[in-house]
Amino acid sequence: MDSSTLRHSCSHIMAEAVKQLWPEVKLGIGPAIEDGFYYDFDKKEPFTDEDLVKIEKNMLEIIRKNEPFIREELTKKEAEQLFKKLKEDYKLELLKEIPDEKVSLYKTGDGFVDLCRGPHIESTGQIKVFKLLSVAGAYWHGIETNPMLQRIYGTCFQEQKELEEYLKNLEEAKSRDHRKLGPQLEFFDIYHEEAGAGLVFYHPKGALLRTIIEDYEKKEHLKRGYQIVITPHIMQAALWRTSGHYDYYKENMYTFKMEDKEFVLKPMNCPGHILIYKSRNRSYRELPIRFFELGTVYRHEKAGVLHGLLRVRGFTQDDAHIFCLPEQLRSEIKSIIDFVFDTMKVFGFKEVGIELSTRPEKYIGSVEDWQQATEALEGALKEKGLSFDINEGEGAFYGPKIDIKLKDALNRKWQCATIQCDFALPKRFNLSYVDSDGKEKQPIMLHRVLLGSLERFIGALLEHYKGDLPLWLAPTQVLVIPIKDPLEEYGQKIKKILEENSIRSEIDNRNETLEKRIRSAELNKIPYCLVVGEREAKQGTVSVRKRGKGDKGVTKIEEFITQIKQEIENKVVWG
Ligand SMILES: [Zn+2]
Ligand SMILES: [Zn+2]
Repeated sequence: MDSSTLRHSCSHIMAEAVKQLWPEVKLGIGPAIEDGFYYDFDKKEPFTDEDLVKIEKNMLEIIRKNEPFIREELTKKEAEQLFKKLKEDYKLELLKEIPDEKVSLYKTGDGFVDLCRGPHIESTGQIKVFKLLSVAGAYWHGIETNPMLQRIYGTCFQEQKELEEYLKNLEEAKSRDHRKLGPQLEFFDIYHEEAGAGLVFYHPKGALLRTIIEDYEKKEHLKRGYQIVITPHIMQAALWRTSGHYDYYKENMYTFKMEDKEFVLKPMNCPGHILIYKSRNRSYRELPIRFFELGTVYRHEKAGVLHGLLRVRGFTQDDAHIFCLPEQLRSEIKSIIDFVFDTMKVFGFKEVGIELSTRPEKYIGSVEDWQQATEALEGALKEKGLSFDINEGEGAFYGPKIDIKLKDALNRKWQCATIQCDFALPKRFNLSYVDSDGKEKQPIMLHRVLLGSLERFIGALLEHYKGDLPLWLAPTQVLVIPIKDPLEEYGQKIKKILEENSIRSEIDNRNETLEKRIRSAELNKIPYCLVVGEREAKQGTVSVRKRGKGDKGVTKIEEFITQIKQEIENKVVWG
């Protein structure tokens, strides 16, 4: 039995149980999701933990009774009458959105009825193991101005063992949640009421981490034949009309008017890079041209889908656009794939999942172009001997794409790299180069990101390492702890030596016990502590503690620096 049918059926059972307990509650929607299901309810008082226990009890009873799922087809009008009688306002709204003349309903038990396409299991007794997990607020349709409903999350499995495994992972994931770790480690915060939702504020340590990542990326791109460019954050609507974004992407764009001119806050970096390409004539000898930008973009996302650093309204992409000759296409795609894998390795991610997404319903360009582009991407993957899944119809509106998702320590997938092949934008902007035969021809354009959104990547990093970042990425690499007051001077001297060697350090000279300060270094996930007392001051040594490894003994400061520099240089990762 497919697990999404099972889980969606379980959401019906939960809704039936809720209606038994609170008949006045109005129903929203209740789909299956990855690893579980939810149902949205409009209920005045919030659901409490005790309520969840009660609901679970009723669900068990419904399952015990083994009620059949009965499908019925009605005309839209009949369905309308039914849901009017039941006072299910949200179902009435959903009905309006269905274009068909006939709709289907599913009934269980003593009069529970839901508007639903199905499919469902045969009867409630087929549910073996389930659990309600949490309650969260959710706007109807995910729109801020709509009523806030209460969403109950649950999950269900075929076997108790699977549920236990899942709950264990869930606990582990909770302890790694970047939304908790970020503020706790003073890296960032996301919500300031007066600023609005989905916008990230990097505090000094988070900003430092991001700078370290950005510096690494800039260096690596220059090494691999990319040129760094910087383009404006606002550009006139005319440009976005030419690019097609204005027609195909408008609902996600922030626009505003100044002196009768309409402007767009850039949702993508491509048109800016195209303008630079177009600023003069290009010869075939120059190609491939690879423009790289750490480009900050703004996209409107519904409040309901915002989530930590994963879905935000402003983020920075490590974005590049490559303009190349047709015969260079495949080798360019292959070197991007290599670049992605090298980068993943440096950051300590070993496994990835690869997906190829093809032409969606809304698209620009010709079907032949799409075919050629899809073949180029697929061919490059095959030549590299990589296995991949195909996402039919999931490409961007301007071209097919390869997504490379990294897998973290809990085996969860995170969207990071994307490679998109694009014949459409070069056409829309009339891009050209002069070929060896003196004729003007159109280059092919590749869009690509490696880490993707730096915000999301930082979220992934934090969760993968549980905040214990590798030494080369840790904002504070070494904490100096002088044991007694008179030794502060020696502590400061050590800190200065570290700084002179470009090792990021802090000193903790608070009037606290040594144990307390070591504990706080651990909580702040600082890789090394150097404890300095009288003996160390006399001998010019430091007493080294390594995160997770404890006391590493006394060593000369010079030796410590040589060793730690090597660890930084080699970008040693753990996990
Ligand atoms: Zn259903
Ligand atoms: Zn692009």
